[in-house]
Amino acid sequence: MAWGTIVKSKHDWAVEPNLANYEQARRTFSWEDARRELDGLPGGGGINIAHETVDRHINSPLRDHLAIRWLGKNGEVWDYTYGQLRDLTNRFANALQDLRVNKGDRVYVLAGRIPELYIIALGTLKHRSVFCPLFSAFGPEPIRTRLTIGRAKVLVTTQSLYERKVKSLRASLPFLEHIVLIGDDHGFTNVPDTIDYRRLIENTSNSYTIQPTDPEDMALLHFTSGTTGAPKGAMHVHGAVVAHHITAKLALDFHRDDIFWCTADPGWVTGTSYGIIAPLTSGITSIIDEGDFDAERWYGILQSQKITIWYSAPTAIRMLMKAGSDVVRKYDLRSLRFLSSVGEPLNPEAVVWSKEAFGLPFHDNWWQTETGGIMIANFAAMNIRPGSMGRPLPGIDAAIVRMTGDGSVEEIREPDVQGELALRPGWPSMFRAYWDEPERYKKCFAGGFYLTGDLAKRDQDGYFWFIGRKDDVIKTSGHLIGPFEVESILMEHKAVAESGVIGKPDPVALEIVKAFVVLREGYKPSEDLRRALLAFARTRLGAVVAPKEIEFVTSVPRTRSGKIMRRLLKARELGLPEGDISTLEAD
Ligand code: ATP
Ligand code: MG
Repeated sequence: MAWGTIVKSKHDWAVEPNLANYEQARRTFSWEDARRELDGLPGGGGINIAHETVDRHINSPLRDHLAIRWLGKNGEVWDYTYGQLRDLTNRFANALQDLRVNKGDRVYVLAGRIPELYIIALGTLKHRSVFCPLFSAFGPEPIRTRLTIGRAKVLVTTQSLYERKVKSLRASLPFLEHIVLIGDDHGFTNVPDTIDYRRLIENTSNSYTIQPTDPEDMALLHFTSGTTGAPKGAMHVHGAVVAHHITAKLALDFHRDDIFWCTADPGWVTGTSYGIIAPLTSGITSIIDEGDFDAERWYGILQSQKITIWYSAPTAIRMLMKAGSDVVRKYDLRSLRFLSSVGEPLNPEAVVWSKEAFGLPFHDNWWQTETGGIMIANFAAMNIRPGSMGRPLPGIDAAIVRMTGDGSVEEIREPDVQGELALRPGWPSMFRAYWDEPERYKKCFAGGFYLTGDLAKRDQDGYFWFIGRKDDVIKTSGHLIGPFEVESILMEHKAVAESGVIGKPDPVALEIVKAFVVLREGYKPSEDLRRALLAFARTRLGAVVAPKEIEFVTSVPRTRSGKIMRRLLKARELGLPEGDISTLEAD
């Protein structure tokens, strides 16, 4: 590989990695053992996410340990110990009881990263109703669609979000029984036809007994990012917590004294599985930042909070790269020991940059809303091949498959051959349904596999390499090209900040590769630069894979979770309808 391998040795580790020997861990792993790392409800009452995250720590020294530190966007710092979280979540569970919400009813939250959101999430799970987070920047229409798909019974939101986005929708949401409002300054509210959160909580008891919970009871409803089409509502169960816990232990290398920062918003699955649940089941401290991305703010948080494990996403990493390495040097980031990334392909350039900037490489991992937890990862103890997603977790069987002529599925065993990434179902955090869309769910399974919709290949050492989404792959002159490969090479050019690559229909080649390029600060679009980039790409990629066309743009369209929406680049290029753009980030 052009990027070589980042070799790890014992000297790189501040602590012994939880997964020290990959082969051995795969051989000895069982989901039953993983389940035994958690407690289960007392008296054999099943498994409940809120018990494993909060209540089970109460009879241990963790009771007074810092569970969540919240950093407000204006500089406030609020701390919650495990003991305090237990009381507050008990209160919210009692509040749902008082509102006559039932087991399985959907409780939605539309809010930024405020402390109440975390309390409500866990209180809802205690009560055995279903928690459904909505990203706070959604406009009224995406909110209405999602509330309708899940038939929300309760919506908790803030006063200003209610007034701006929800009030006008109320008549179209007959199933929605209660709207609970959080004051914009966390204070009391007084709005007709709504319930005030603080009064609701203050009037309840802080003791609550979790009722028996079956591992198959519904727990979380998560909408996908809508990168490839209309978002789907993936349903997850309480038993998923076994996978949240063990995957964090193995792939994020959680140890007892860690201070963890997951930068994802709970509006997306990463922000729940690893932003709420896994750090708490592990008894570590989780930092939550209400503020938006800002390179200096982020480095400041890493430094002041002494973050040890940082879980972020390629978009953010690319923005940090854009801000330059000089900014990093102003901060003391020696507490950091493990960096991880998910959500999009992580360009090799970014892995190598982070090794230079932080002395630590980012570890890419792969998963989806549907899988509920990390499936393929670069582990702390494993050498990294920049550009690769790593290897499947213990307990996860991943394969590369292709459809045969008769519609059945065939596993490709030869290395380096691309096909669809498929997983053998059976891990606990696998989604159980696309809510209200049984046909769409059924279509994801064939030949004993769950088909992910992503294309990938596996090398001879078992590392998986992402090619692209099935929908984004470019077919040109008899070749299949993943846009990521082309985007990554373009990014290696010093003038390029980022790019989005699509297939543009062509009468001769079927499609040609077209790149939309955003330039770094200090560079201006010009015919010379365009030609230089075309030549640079041709030298690195060869004539077939290199783009034939380059267009300079000031930004590429992204989902609010930071993924490039290539389908939108394509629709705009071809003058076609834009389709569902409910998750499109505002310019
Ligand atoms: P939709 O299914 O609505 O189109 P989405 O697939 O973007 O949206 P998510 O479930 O949030 O919704 O994202 C999962 C997808 O993100 C994966 O299927 C894959 O395409 C991409 N992805 C996640 N992690 C990685 C990674 N490490 N490398 C490459 N791609 C990744
Ligand atoms: Mg998807």
